[in-house]
Amino acid sequence: MKECEYRQINTGPGGAVTSPAAGTPPAPPPHGDAAAAGGGGGGGSCKKSRLRRKWEVFPGRNRFYCDGRIILASQSGVFMLTLGLILSTCGLFFVFDCPFLAEHLTVAVPIIGGVLFFFVMSSLLRTSFTDPGILPRATPDEAADLENFLPVPDSSGLSTYRPPPRTKEVVINGQVVKLKYCFTCKMFRPPRTSHCSLCDNCVERFDHHCPWVGNCVGKRNYRTFYMFILSLSFLTAFIFACVITHLTLRSQRANFLSALKESPASVLELVVCFFSVWSILGLSGFHTYLVASNLTTNEDIKGSWSSKRSSDESANPYSYSSIVTNCCAVLCGPIPPSSFDLKGFVLPDVVSPSVPDSNIPSFGVKTDTNMVG
Ligand SMILES: [Zn+2]
Ligand SMILES: [Zn+2]
Repeated sequence: MKECEYRQINTGPGGAVTSPAAGTPPAPPPHGDAAAAGGGGGGGSCKKSRLRRKWEVFPGRNRFYCDGRIILASQSGVFMLTLGLILSTCGLFFVFDCPFLAEHLTVAVPIIGGVLFFFVMSSLLRTSFTDPGILPRATPDEAADLENFLPVPDSSGLSTYRPPPRTKEVVINGQVVKLKYCFTCKMFRPPRTSHCSLCDNCVERFDHHCPWVGNCVGKRNYRTFYMFILSLSFLTAFIFACVITHLTLRSQRANFLSALKESPASVLELVVCFFSVWSILGLSGFHTYLVASNLTTNEDIKGSWSSKRSSDESANPYSYSSIVTNCCAVLCGPIPPSSFDLKGFVLPDVVSPSVPDSNIPSFGVKTDTNMVG
């Protein structure tokens, strides 16, 4: 399977791929060593200051809990609604339907329901609380280097500001892909990266921002998101079928109205499942198509690789031309470590102006990628 190995892009005026670097995030400074963490380069001001964790100095809008181990978007009201709907519907099902169905049908009903409920909750919480693939913003030094912020004296002696180039082009599997410059994060966005306006971060392999899970869906949590909607589809359809069976069995002993009166909670579950199952099934089908095509929602909505968009021959350069390989690549590939390092290393309050080049965040371009233009 062809896989991405990453190189550093030289963000200087030359604009060419230069030093090969590992695809891992920049090497963190040693624990507790303020001088080393601050760079310690020639003449740097390495003040002794309180060391802070990365999430404490994080400039985006995400919120952190449990000492930075849990990340959530700034607005998590809809996520609470999702959690409340799932917990209340499943709670009613296990309390009012399962005992009757286990007695009159089979004990497999509560067992299957319990397994599906466990899958739904674990995948939901993992999607919501995991770093989706946030890219750290450039430090002021890196930004100055990249943007060429230094004033350039013109012939009249006045200083002029030289704006950064807005796009760069790379070739990925024979396809020219434009890298856009992010003015907030002060860097060229790696391929498939997009800036989430709600979280105010650039996210790798950005799929979309999902208010229902209270997080962006990206490179590091797409798999659990897909598992969540898939297991939720099965759970909703299962509860829907079980509740109908429950009411049918009760109505055989009396009439249907008295069955409804005997189990009013089932009516509530029926209404919730009926109105949600169609959209959840549709979403699962849509994401199954995306997984099989190795596409993201963002690319599909924008029509990034649609031939209708331009007269050029444009196919998805990330697709392996095989549904099975695409599914394996999206669902079974290794999950990269968080470059954000939520619970890990510390940064000093004052960073030395001279940051070694090796600390500049690297971002992903496949090895078969060559800068052009
Ligand atoms: Zn950005
Ligand atoms: Zn977001």
